[in-house]
Formats: sequence, C-alpha cells, structure tokens
Amino acid sequence: MLQQISEQDKLICLTDNEHSFSAVNPPIYQSSIFSFNTIEDYIDYKDKLNQAYCYTRGNNPSCKILEQKLAALDQAEQCRVFSSGMGAISAALFSTLNSGDHVLVLNTIYGPTLDYLKFMERYGISFDVYSLVEISQLEQLTKANTKVIYTESPATMTFETIDLQKLAQFAKARNIVTIIDNTCLTPLLQKPLSLGIDIAVYSLSKYTGGHSDVIAGAVVTSQKLMINIDKYGYKLSGSVLSPNDAFLLLRGLRTLPLRLEALSQTTTLVIDYLSKHPQIKAIYHPLSYSPEQRDIYQNQTNGYAGLFSIQLVNNHTHEIRSFINHLQTFNIAVSWGGFESLVMVKDINELRKPISDNVIIRFSLGLLDAKTIIQDLEQALNQIGTNHA
Ligand SMILES: *Cc1c(COP(=O)(O)O)cnc(C)c1O
Repeated sequence: MLQQISEQDKLICLTDNEHSFSAVNPPIYQSSIFSFNTIEDYIDYKDKLNQAYCYTRGNNPSCKILEQKLAALDQAEQCRVFSSGMGAISAALFSTLNSGDHVLVLNTIYGPTLDYLKFMERYGISFDVYSLVEISQLEQLTKANTKVIYTESPATMTFETIDLQKLAQFAKARNIVTIIDNTCLTPLLQKPLSLGIDIAVYSLSKYTGGHSDVIAGAVVTSQKLMINIDKYGYKLSGSVLSPNDAFLLLRGLRTLPLRLEALSQTTTLVIDYLSKHPQIKAIYHPLSYSPEQRDIYQNQTNGYAGLFSIQLVNNHTHEIRSFINHLQTFNIAVSWGGFESLVMVKDINELRKPISDNVIIRFSLGLLDAKTIIQDLEQALNQIGTNHA
C-alpha cells in the first residue's frame, strides 16, 4: 500500500500545475512525458476527445506556444517547429510527395535542399530546375505528374525575387502545391501564405533565433496540408524541437522586429556605400534590383534583410582572399542571422583558381552600427588594387 505522501515530497516531487508564479516568460516545459489523472483520460486523449499533452515527440507546451506565435505571424492555420531547418524542409517535401511525382525547383535555392531532392530520386521522385525567369516559362517545364513547385524569394546567395502571387496562381490552376523557403525575410517581412503560396518552410536558426545559439526550423501551412506533415514528417520522422530551444526562439522572437529594423537601416547605408565604390563589380540584394524586380519585391514584402552578396572588380583570388582576411568586424563563418557580421564565399572552388570572375562573397550584417562596418569594409578594400580586371 502506498503511504500518505508527505507535504515535503509533494512540494519536491509532484508537478505543480496550479501556479504560474506570475512569470512573464513562458516556463520551459523540460519534460518528455505528461501524465493523465485516470486511464479514461488517456483513452479520451487517444480518441481525440481531449487535447492533453502526452509525449514531447508529439506535443510540448513550450513548442506549442512558439508554434501558435509563428502561425499567427504568417496568418497561417498551423505551424510545426522542427529541430532544424532541414528537418522542416525534408518533412514538407517527403510528406507531400509520392513515388512517381515530379518537382519543379528553383536553380538558386539553398544547396542542401537541392541535394535532398537528388537523394529522393532513388524513391522515384524526379525534379527539374527552373531559373527566376518569367513565370510563363514554367509552362514548358510542367509535367502531368508535377506535384510541387519549390521556390525561394529572395534566393540564396544571389537574392533574385520571383512574383509569388503569379507563381501561386500558375500552380493553383494546375493543382500543384507551392512551397517557399521564407527563411531570408521571416514572416515579418514577407507572408507567403497571404500571397497564395501553400506551404512556407523556415530555418529558425537564422534571424528568428538571432543569436547564433540554436538550430531549428518550422513549417507553416493550412490545416489540410499539415495533416501528413504532422503525422509523417513530424511525429514519425521525429526531428522535433526541444523545449529548451523553443524557449530560446521565443526569446529571439521578442526582439526580431527591432533587429530587422536595425538591419534594414544598416544594410541600406552599407549598400549605398558599396554601390559607389570602384572596387565593387556587382551587388546582389533587393536594393540593387532592376526596376521590374524592385516593383515585384516591393509589392510582396515589407522591408529589407541584412543579407547580400558582392563581386569585386579584382579577380585575382589571392587579393580576394586578402580582402576577406583583412575584415576585422566580420567573422568568417557559414550560416547567418546572429549578432555578429559574417562573411562567406558562395563557391570556395572559385578561390582555388588563381584568377576567377565568379567569386561571389556573401555578407550577413550583424548589429554593429553602419559607420563601423563601412570603415572596416573601406580598410579591407584598400588592401587590394583596383586595376586587375
Ligand atoms: C540555413 C538555411 C536552411 C537550413 O536550415 P538549418 O536550420 O541549418 O537546417 C534552409 N534554408 C535557408 C535559406 C537557410 O539559410
């Protein structure tokens, strides 16, 4: 027989669901399991008659709070958060596709996503790439079995934009599901579902986390399309987010509007500086678009992010390396979206050649002031000559 539980044991061991202690932050529900008062409650849970929590590879209150916020920001019916952006992307793709299906995918998307589609070919899923051209050209590439059009706008590394409303119309008329990787702009600067796109996927490791300390992802979509993504992509594949990381993301989210606003101002000043510099051959960012691209961009977005690429006039790779190595306020690192400014090269193989006209240098601006960043770029550009082209 179980003895009477002492008051002290109750305090130490039992869960206290009565008090939230007026905490202003949602607590971290660092629990893998949640118990039921009676076996009938559990049966009701299984019969979907109550919405109780059961097991964290399914639902967890900390993750649920984050999901509700992210869904609301995207004006979406539902959101699920994953343990990485690739977890979210792969879940959205394989939960939506069947063997025999065909995918149209933008040529300049995030590299690992393209690698993932190549891997899926062994399961009978084929794909073709399209470039950011006129939507009408998609017509020729579309097949009877095209199930998904996957896109990104602005695209990774080169930041071209695509008319998302037109793309969504094109796909809807043909019963094709549209998926966008909206990591770059976050739901604060672009709400793809409100433009007619079916599914938005995110790496939350970037701006949303915002402090280079968490790897996470999200899928937002309708209740209908979420059914398979939740069942197969989330619960059965199991790349679920930890409650601790959900807490970090909820914290990041609180300053996201302020960080994006600061980045927009800094980036505008830095690009203005670079666009006048004789060493700069090309800038890849919405602020440097052609008038047609700019119209599309302004129509569907709500501001600028701090991510862009450049090409130098100088094509001697030892000098390009020297420019990068002389940057003092930039870390040489992959990924982006944190406090620090980062610099990376799109294709390091170009740097292995003595001379290359195809070195694309990608910057992620952080939260230092524009003046300091410009001074740093200035001194690093001064390290190299202009007249090698
Ligand atoms: C980083 C990134 C991803 C992958 O996200 P992880 O969290 O690293 O798995 C996907 N898409 C874009 C555009 C990214 O920048």
